[in-house]
Amino acid sequence: MKIIPDVIWILLGVVIFLIVMMPGYHQRAEAVQRAAQIKVYSVEKKGYVMSEIVSKTKEEWKKTLTKEQYHILREKGTEPAFSGKYANHHEQGVYRCAGCGLDLFRSEDKFESGTGWPSFTAPIAAENVRNQADNSLFMRRTEVLCPRCGGHLGHVFDDGPKPTGQRYCMNSAALQFAALPKK
Ligand code: FE
Repeated sequence: MKIIPDVIWILLGVVIFLIVMMPGYHQRAEAVQRAAQIKVYSVEKKGYVMSEIVSKTKEEWKKTLTKEQYHILREKGTEPAFSGKYANHHEQGVYRCAGCGLDLFRSEDKFESGTGWPSFTAPIAAENVRNQADNSLFMRRTEVLCPRCGGHLGHVFDDGPKPTGQRYCMNSAALQFAALPKK
């Protein structure tokens, strides 16, 4: 009958271990979440930087975004074709995320797709966008998200021009243009 006390001692040990370790574990997990950083390309710094994830509640987003921006970025909406301010926009500069300001696309990579939405052949860097399968509306598409704030930007299709063959079809309302002097 010696096995019963042994089992009890082991269980007691496990329980004490969990009681001692759990509070610290939660604190560490929270700290990791708070300081979550991603590697992204910065046009200003001309190189890769570590950047903190932008996390806000619905109410906080509603305060900082217009109704249209909120609908597109946070509710995966789509603006009507030819309605957005950047569909027919040709200035030299960089298009940033309207939610968090992350550099997304360069004017050099913008092309006339004829779709009525601003279209690009490539992002500033692969790290500056996040692709995700989107099977809504009975279609198989690839959704493009901001990797820093999680905002919905648009979709990417593989019917774009050379050299990449990609067409990043974006919502103007998800972008914020910043002019840059010509090099
Ligand atoms: Fe963003």
